[in-house]
Amino acid sequence: MKGLQAALHMIYPPQCIACDALVTTDFGLCGSCWRETPFITGLVCDTCGTPLPGEGSGAPVHCDDCLVIARPWTQGRAAMLYGDKARELVLGLKHADRLDLARPAGAWLMRAAEPILRPGMLIAPVPLHWRRLFKRRYNQSAILSAEVARLAKLDHCPDLLQRKRSTGTQDGRNREGRFANVQDAVSLHPRRKMQAEGRHVLLVDDVMTSGATLAACAEACLAGGAAEISILVLTRVAKES
Ligand SMILES: [Zn+2]
Ligand SMILES: [Zn+2]
Repeated sequence: MKGLQAALHMIYPPQCIACDALVTTDFGLCGSCWRETPFITGLVCDTCGTPLPGEGSGAPVHCDDCLVIARPWTQGRAAMLYGDKARELVLGLKHADRLDLARPAGAWLMRAAEPILRPGMLIAPVPLHWRRLFKRRYNQSAILSAEVARLAKLDHCPDLLQRKRSTGTQDGRNREGRFANVQDAVSLHPRRKMQAEGRHVLLVDDVMTSGATLAACAEACLAGGAAEISILVLTRVAKES
């Protein structure tokens, strides 16, 4: 296997997943792209994963948003801030068929999720509306949740949730507009109800902005009998303008 990989590397030298520079390992970022990728480290909001200043005492801390917005989930983490290379990676995953990004993204998600993973968790993605799924052919959040489930050795249910109606884009809406737009738009898949019953569900998405979509999904899981919800996102938009 080692020999085969070495031979392949002679023909196809590994490239940076963001810029095509040559790197030493597969599925990695080159040094300069790494520096331009805003990975979240250090103290974070326990509810949404936003980075916070200071060291922290080990007790859970919360950002200003999570103190004022009711979040229907317990804990949340994010791997990166939405910006610079992280934005390019998300857009690549979403629109450019860059499914090769799933592997490094899965590893970054795992690192962020470690403190909030629990035994017996059920991993599920935020759903795409079926019409958009048809156009795009895949749900990028399901690609990410599958990777997390595989790495964490937890159950995965890619169609736990379904969008009842098309919600249109969340872009250009303010926070109130975003929450109103997605309310009641998501429900538990009728055939998956049994699977969610009494479970702690980890919802996975590529981007969290206001948290409206994740809140709608969490509410749907709880209404369908899930015991508790946590959330995990690849990127967190830190502050809404
Ligand atoms: Zn690069
Ligand atoms: Zn927060």
